[in-house]
Amino acid sequence: MKQSPRFDIDLDKHYNATVVIACDTCGHESRVDLKVLSPDVPVRCKCGTQIGMTPHAILKAQERVSQIKQAYGV
Ligand SMILES: [Zn+2]
Repeated sequence: MKQSPRFDIDLDKHYNATVVIACDTCGHESRVDLKVLSPDVPVRCKCGTQIGMTPHAILKAQERVSQIKQAYGV
């Protein structure tokens, strides 16, 4: 079974969500706009590793963004 990638959420001051995905191979963190994230398009790390965000992982990311926004009172 494919493992879900590890990721973090980053919100800028305009509350645009960026997903920070850690590469398991080299540890580099790739930053991808949540809006362009798709399970069909793997994120390519600079080391060449392709990191696939599963639909479940993207859903988790979106959930976390709304939680952060709620915490900010947005
Ligand atoms: Zn890498």
